[in-house]
Amino acid sequence: MEKREQLYEGKAKKVYKTDDPGLYIVSYKDDATAFDGKKKGTIADKGVVNNTMSNILFALMEEKGVPTHFVKQLSDRETLVKAVTILPLEVIVRNVAAGHFSQRYGVDEGTPLLRPALEFSYKRDDLGDPLMNDDHALALGLATEGELAQVKKYAAKVNEAMKGFFLDKGLKLIDFKIEFGKLDDGTIVLADEISPDTCRLWDVETNEKMDKDRFRRDLGNVEETYREVLDRVRA
Ligand code: UDP
Repeated sequence: MEKREQLYEGKAKKVYKTDDPGLYIVSYKDDATAFDGKKKGTIADKGVVNNTMSNILFALMEEKGVPTHFVKQLSDRETLVKAVTILPLEVIVRNVAAGHFSQRYGVDEGTPLLRPALEFSYKRDDLGDPLMNDDHALALGLATEGELAQVKKYAAKVNEAMKGFFLDKGLKLIDFKIEFGKLDDGTIVLADEISPDTCRLWDVETNEKMDKDRFRRDLGNVEETYREVLDRVRA
């Protein structure tokens, strides 16, 4: 597969065209940002961990009946994916209160939720990715009712599958963010990445944070923790 011009460079990944208009190559970087880009750094080999871990999870999701953009891992940092148009919605699913949810609703971090809570935020860095409900997304034409219904159904499936998968690896899935894309024919597929950058994972025994909060909150052992998560996911 021939790598062609760069289409896009984001905070954690670059996307390239290929000689096939239906396929892109994603390249994962070690750059890390937090707090709307106000905190910047690098996490050595994060790109390798996030690429490999995402692909393992995308393959698992396919098995569970959730279509994804994943085609084939090409190298440590590069993966061939289906070309999609990303829906401008971040889909967040929470099992336990943490992060912004804890702040917004005044709930201690670590409080289990009575049921999983799904939320949308509008993918707009310039606006700080504001929280958004279905009506807002529909009123702005960001997705159709059918697309939102599909996205919610898939998000619930992803949550159930990932909760069980991570628990087997000694990790509690606190919350996560996923993104969906649209193929040319309108099919909705899971896209972007699933990694310690986009999931909160706590060790089952110690409740130690095993995710990007180590970088956000300067908790130390960032690289080691990313590597440890990948080792557990692979085991
Ligand atoms: N998240 C993400 N990208 C974002 C915002 C959130 O991947 O731009 C993930 C985050 O890692 C966590 C979940 O979504 O697993 C919920 O994040 P929250 O809304 O609590 O915001 P945060 O405190 O992470 O900024």
